[in-house]
Amino acid sequence: MSRVYNFSAGPAVLPEEVLKEAAAEMLDYNGTGMSVMEMSHRSKAYEEIIQGAEQDLRDLMNIPDNYKVLFLQGGASQQFAMIPMNLMKNKVADYIITGQWAKKAYQEAQVYGKANAIASSADETFSYIPDCSDLPISEDADYVYICENNTIYGTKFKTLPNTKGKTLVSDVSSCFLSEPVDVTKYGIIYGGVQKNIGPAGVVIVIIREDLITEDTLPGTPTMLKYKIHADNASLYNTPPAYGIYICGKVFKWLKKMGGLEAMKQRNEEKAKILYDFLDNSKMFKGTVRKEDRSLMNVPFVTGDADLDAKFVKEAKAAGLENLKGHRSVGGMRASIYNAMPKEGVEALVAFMKKFEEENTK
Ligand SMILES: *Cc1c(COP(=O)(O)O)cnc(C)c1O
Repeated sequence: MSRVYNFSAGPAVLPEEVLKEAAAEMLDYNGTGMSVMEMSHRSKAYEEIIQGAEQDLRDLMNIPDNYKVLFLQGGASQQFAMIPMNLMKNKVADYIITGQWAKKAYQEAQVYGKANAIASSADETFSYIPDCSDLPISEDADYVYICENNTIYGTKFKTLPNTKGKTLVSDVSSCFLSEPVDVTKYGIIYGGVQKNIGPAGVVIVIIREDLITEDTLPGTPTMLKYKIHADNASLYNTPPAYGIYICGKVFKWLKKMGGLEAMKQRNEEKAKILYDFLDNSKMFKGTVRKEDRSLMNVPFVTGDADLDAKFVKEAKAAGLENLKGHRSVGGMRASIYNAMPKEGVEALVAFMKKFEEENTK
């Protein structure tokens, strides 16, 4: 068996320890004589899995009691509709457009009400986070929406926007559990887990209780009401049971690693190795304004598309996979999520150095 260093933006690298544990439990989970995949979601064994996962997530993020944790399906993209359907009482919401995911959420919200783009960094290919200290927040806005870490462009909000008292809704798909957060600053924090937590098919929604109401937009399907899932502790219908089980294992792994403060330090250390190299290289350049750089997704370019392609190809041959940038931006992108070991980033930088030497006349 040989494993590569996988820099994929998502689905992405998972802790090897977690995969090994899951493999060991594949045929017989904890003496039940069956795989978690084969188990009733109403069984005692599964109840312990999902409740344990929720508790561990609550511990890790210090989630207050007046927030619900929901394990849902449909990916992050389903939330683009579910959020307005459940939150748009005045049918007005403000969106900050910092990339494709924010833009998609904004476009989807327009189906349900008046979505305002109150700030954007589209003018410079989303390479920075706009100043959000004094935005024209709509007086009757039901919420202000951000995508906190922009997976494709590699930017991250280092300060949350001043929402002037309005509810903040944040897509944290690609920075989930990468560092501590103050949950009380948000109405909703949500993310697809396939970037930094687990297998695709699960989206986690952390939502303040007062936002969970019967009063959804007319025509909202039962499955898209937060209330139905909250009232049924994410077991209204069959949940993505196996995926939640893996998420639970990753939460345990994070606890063992020292929690989110320790992850933050580790992630800063890893990112610094790569950013320092980019800042000193004559061939490779980071594409993001320094103060807005993500710890998780690091896009970079050589400035020559052929050389970029050569780099991606040779890196792959050297066991460094999925370094091609998003199809909309080109170049390269290294996603260095929680589960990417420091050795992986060091191997990448060593390879980049070598490539630069070999390809400089
Ligand atoms: C990947 C991603 C999405 C889309 O996730 P799906 O689960 O595929 O719908 C949305 N937002 C962000 C920030 C992402 O990185």
